[in-house]
Order: sequence, then C-alpha cells, then structure tokens
Amino acid sequence: AVSAAHWEDKWDAAKIRAASAAHVGATWTPSNVLDDVPILVKGEGVFLHAADGRKFIDWTSQAVCTNLGYDVPPAVIEAVTRQLTELPHVYSGLGMVEPRARLAALLAELLPAPLTGLIFPSSGSEANEAAIRIARRFTGKHKILTQYRSYHGGSGASLAATGDFRRWYAEAGNSGFIKAINPTPLMFSWSEAGDAAETDGAHRALAALEEQILLEGPQTIAAVLLESIVGSGGTFIAPEAYMRGVRALCDKYGILYIADEVMVGFGRTGKMWGFQHYEGLVPDIVTSAKGLTAAYLPLSMVAMSAELHEFFRTRPVGWGSTYQAHPVALACAYECVKHLLKHDLVGNAARLEPVMRECTDHLVASHPSVRQGRVKGLFGCLDLQGVDGKYMQPLSGPPHAAVKPFRRALLDEGVYGLVRPPLLHSAPPLVIDEPTLRDGFARVDRALSVLDKELGF
Ligand code: PLP
Repeated sequence: AVSAAHWEDKWDAAKIRAASAAHVGATWTPSNVLDDVPILVKGEGVFLHAADGRKFIDWTSQAVCTNLGYDVPPAVIEAVTRQLTELPHVYSGLGMVEPRARLAALLAELLPAPLTGLIFPSSGSEANEAAIRIARRFTGKHKILTQYRSYHGGSGASLAATGDFRRWYAEAGNSGFIKAINPTPLMFSWSEAGDAAETDGAHRALAALEEQILLEGPQTIAAVLLESIVGSGGTFIAPEAYMRGVRALCDKYGILYIADEVMVGFGRTGKMWGFQHYEGLVPDIVTSAKGLTAAYLPLSMVAMSAELHEFFRTRPVGWGSTYQAHPVALACAYECVKHLLKHDLVGNAARLEPVMRECTDHLVASHPSVRQGRVKGLFGCLDLQGVDGKYMQPLSGPPHAAVKPFRRALLDEGVYGLVRPPLLHSAPPLVIDEPTLRDGFARVDRALSVLDKELGF
C-alpha cells in the first residue's frame, strides 16, 4: 500500500519541498535549483501567487509561452471540458475530430496563401523535428543550415539544429547540420542603433552565406531553418534585406525555407507571425507552439506549402508520436487563437511597443550594467555588462558572482520569469496593460540598481 500522505487533501510546503528534493528531477538546470524556486499556487491576470503569500508579475510569460495570462478564457475551459467529456483521445492516424479540421482551416487562413497544410505535434522541438524530416524527404537532400545564435529544441535533430552552445551538453548524434554566423551589427559592421550601413552589412552577411552554401554544395542542402526573430539567443532582429535575401538564395539554389516561429508566432512581436516583419517573405514551412495554446496544453504546429502538403498526401512524412493532434489540446488551441483575434491581442503587443522601447531605453540610459536593449512588440531583451564594458557573463563558463543576488533582487521586487544573464528578457503575457507594463519595468529598474552595486559600478 502507498503511504497515508497520498490520501491527504493538501500538502504543506515542507512536505512538497521534501518530496521534490527526494524525487523530482530538473533537466536544463541541476535538479537542486528546484529547492529554491517558489511553490506556485495560483495565477491571476499576469500575476502568479506563491504558497508563502508572495505575488509576482510574470515578466517573461514563463518560457515566453503563457501569452494569454492566467485568466483562462471561459470559451477555452468550455471547449476543453467538452472534448474531455465527449472524447478525450483519438490517435491521429486512426480518426478525425472536428477541432483538428477546424484549427487547420483557421490557421491556413491566418498564414500567407501557399501555407495550407498543417500537422500538429505536441512541442516546439517536435515541430522542428517534423519540419526537418519533411524537408529531407521532399528534397531528397540531407543538410540543414541554421544559425549559431539559435534555439530550435532539445530533442535529437532540433538540438543538433540549435546553434546556442549553452545547450550542447552531449554529442547530439545527428549529422548534416551546418551553422551560419548571424547577421549582427558587431559581425557585419553597422551601428547597434541600426543605420544606413545596415543594408550594406546585410549584403556582406548574405555574400558570406552564399559562399557557405556554395562551399557546402547546394545539392546537399535540404533547408535553411531560421528563427524569424532570434528569441532565447537575445531578441536579435535581422535586417530586412538579409531575411529577404535568404529567401532569394533558397529560391536560387532549390533550398526550402523553414521559419521557426515557436517563440514569436501568435503575436508576440506585434504581428501574427515574426516573418511578417520582412515584407514579402513567405516561408515554405512554418513551425510554432507556445502561443498556440498559451501553454495551457501541449500542442505545436507545422504549416507547409500546398506543394508539400500535396506531396505528403500520398507518402508518409515518417515522423510521429502518440500524443500528436491531441483532441483536447486542439480544442484548447482553436479557442485560444480565436480569443487572440477577438481581443486584438496582436494589436495590443504592437500598441505597447513604444512603451517597451521607452522603458528599455530608460534602463539602458540609467544603469551602467545595461549595455544595450532590443525590442519588437512585447518582446524585449537587455544585454547586461560588467565594469570592463564586456558582457556581464561570458556566454560560456561559470555564472558571474553577481547573478545570484540579482536573481534574488528580482524576486524581492516581485519579478518572476527566466533570468539568463547576460540576457534579461522582457516578454510579459500579451494581455498586459500599459500601467502594469510600466510597473513591471519599474520593478526591474530597482533590481538593476542592486546589480549595478553588486558589479561595483
Ligand atoms: N524553437 C524556438 C525558437 C524556441 O524558442 C523553443 C523553445 O523555447 C523551441 C523551438 C522548442 O520548443 P519546445 O520547448 O516547446 O520544445
């Protein structure tokens, strides 16, 4: 028999902590990090309540995913409850359910014209796995070209596609992934503020990319896989000329263009899709997740062009999982996307961009520990630096001694979310209003004063 504790209604914090330390493992962090994280009991709007009474603003929508905040729309609860009650599961290859057909049709309307075919894995990583498989099967080619500053997921091929070496813990065991240098101001010589030299720099970066494609052999490259706006690598917005140029290179050399919209899709940057910031750019494949269900349930999507969809009507993609196209998650996603549209939350992200910019600029101007800030919609990032004018923490190596007190200062100010120095992201739920956004920045402002002091400024 199991112990009596399992028949108790409620566990106190001590019991939760003890069971967590003894039995619960983490993955991207050492498991002992969980010993100190807040025990969360309730969400409300853009705020989270902890068991010990503390209240936090969710400053990064957790992993930039809880885009609709914590007041789950009644239509979502109703649809999820109905699906659970009527038919909780259908294996994706064995049957069709109404929400699957309706969600696919809705997304096809929200995507540019040729993107009409949809599959529904359960996570962003799986969406990229599937997209890579689609590209390789369709083209008969093997190599996937990605960027160093990128994150595409934690599973086999999606991790091998990831350029961020902070994620490389073990040999990925996947071959055929090649990485390009991102078109950042530092690498291709234009001002960090963006100026006339930017277009020149974009052309230099494109020339380097074309040389790389030619040296690798275009006949070996199945796809280019790019985050439309680099997310966890630091909100890097590539010059428009570069992104359109990449599309042109793909057309020139018969390479598919995959847009990873896992983080930026569904309105994060003030447009429904991140690639819409680059006029005329239409990918062959789009992957997304997170905002699709506001992280209420696990679901992701791969949208593919009509040509690809037609190709796979008579051939298997050769990828799958038991939980893909889960009916309950599909029902949830359908109502989440409609909620996003009905309340014009994409417009809210666009309207709040000037506030994000003003507050970000203020932090850059008033804290020596902040080197630069970048903003698109409700998607922002600060680069933190030490007294030597270098990034506060090198991208590899042990954390700077100031990281711990800074993390504590943020929690003390009631700011909750991902803190990954030298980057500090600002990406609250899309339902945030202006006064709450300004309040969030004021809290970060006070925590940064602690960081300035810790760093010896
Ligand atoms: N791609 C991007 C751009 C992401 O930001 C993430 C997650 O943060 C992923 C892929 C992986 O998604 P998931 O964590 O849902 O597997």
